[in-house]
Amino acid sequence: MRFSGFKVLKEGLTGNKGWSPHWRSPDPKTEYDIVIIGGGGHGLSTAYHLAKEYGAKNIAVLEKGYIGGGNVGRNTTIVRANYFLDGNSQFYSHSLKKWENIEKELNFNAMVSQRGQIQLFHSDAQRDATIRRGNSIINQGDEAEMLDVPTLKKMVPYLDFENARFPIYGGMIARRSGTARHDAVAWGYARGADQHGVDIIQNCEVTGIDIEGGVVKGVQTTRGAIKAKKVGIVVAGRSGQVAAMAGMRLPIESHVLQAFVTEGLKPIVDHVISFGMGHFYISQSDKGGLVFGGDLDFYASYAQRGNLPMMEHVMEAGMALMPAIGQAKVLRSWGGIMDMTPDGSPIIDKTHIDGLFIDCGWCYGGFKAVPASGDCFAHLIHTGRPHKVAERYRLDRFRTGVGLMDEEGTGSQHNLH
Ligand SMILES: Cc1cc2nc3c(=O)[nH]c(=O)nc-3n(C[C@H](O)[C@H](O)[C@H](O)COP(=O)(O)OP(=O)(O)OC[C@H]3O[C@@H](n4cnc5c(N)ncnc54)[C@H](O)[C@@H]3O)c2cc1C
Repeated sequence: MRFSGFKVLKEGLTGNKGWSPHWRSPDPKTEYDIVIIGGGGHGLSTAYHLAKEYGAKNIAVLEKGYIGGGNVGRNTTIVRANYFLDGNSQFYSHSLKKWENIEKELNFNAMVSQRGQIQLFHSDAQRDATIRRGNSIINQGDEAEMLDVPTLKKMVPYLDFENARFPIYGGMIARRSGTARHDAVAWGYARGADQHGVDIIQNCEVTGIDIEGGVVKGVQTTRGAIKAKKVGIVVAGRSGQVAAMAGMRLPIESHVLQAFVTEGLKPIVDHVISFGMGHFYISQSDKGGLVFGGDLDFYASYAQRGNLPMMEHVMEAGMALMPAIGQAKVLRSWGGIMDMTPDGSPIIDKTHIDGLFIDCGWCYGGFKAVPASGDCFAHLIHTGRPHKVAERYRLDRFRTGVGLMDEEGTGSQHNLH
């Protein structure tokens, strides 16, 4: 089934009876060539790229819950390519280019909206750092544009420009950045993978990884043992637990990240806006809700909900930047489990076990990485070599200290990235 304007019109006029499920629900086979553990954005994108780009056959994605139930359906949907450091900037640039084509490629409305992301600055030092980042982004081939206060006042008049503590000195806009509908991205990749023959198996938790003589042989699951020649671990906040099944101890801590949405309002925030003096960012959904978030809860946890101190912190930052937000009623808040690395950059690598691969460490920024991560992880699994834009995402950098990419300059403390 392909989506088209004609199909939508026809179905609308004939009672919507001609739609078919987006993907099959097969029972797991006893053996696959490749098993991907984790049906989040990265796992589904990996399976899709393996089947579509690299022609791999006989692939299963094993998901312990349901498609879209993890972080891929819990994030604040921001996609951007404004990274500073060599290694990250090429990768996220590659990802943004893939976002620009994703709907055509998947024949699925992922509601990609390149509304522009504005990063604000509030001091001379921040202005210098922002200009430096902007130059790095331009050198990398992407766009960055400085905005002065009069221009910003026209674009985002509802912000508190003269705030006594954090006056706005200016901003930088990345016009190709924006948002995409998170769960549509999961559904689109699931549908695309299924169309290329991938078995997507929900309610199938991996409980063990079978290894013989240093070679992966398959996995144990709640739906029985499954043999596999290659296994990819792509489980975001659960990376530490699943890698432990293969005897690995990862340099990852899992932390909760919360987000919030208000009641639906008339359109007011038509960009993505990031506060420079606190961890607060905001956009407006197509339903009208103001979607915003901030910092991690500062303790390691596997709970998919956060606590009040961070909620208060986020609300305070929001009020400092945009006092009018105090008039809006918060409808919902939720949390997801972030796989935090010490340098804040991800891992896409082989492991010491033959045939076992890992893709993790996306911290709080892995949604924007979904298209490129799937592409690069599929490349690695298929060819055994890293994709050229993901060469720096090596696991051993945390052992050797060589090639760390501390994008935020916060040192090696997981919860500060
Ligand atoms: C509140 C919040 C806001 C965020 N905002 C942004 C943002 O604006 N922009 C951005 O780029 N990123 C953002 N992120 C980060 C982004 O959502 C994550 O980095 C990314 O989604 C993680 O990759 P994933 O989609 O594959 O994860 P997930 O969707 O969590 O997928 C992992 C899957 O593995 C499954 N799994 C775990 N263990 C097992 C097992 N043993 N067996 C089988 N399956 C298993 C899980 O059930 C899960 O479905 C945000 C995250 C949160 C929580």
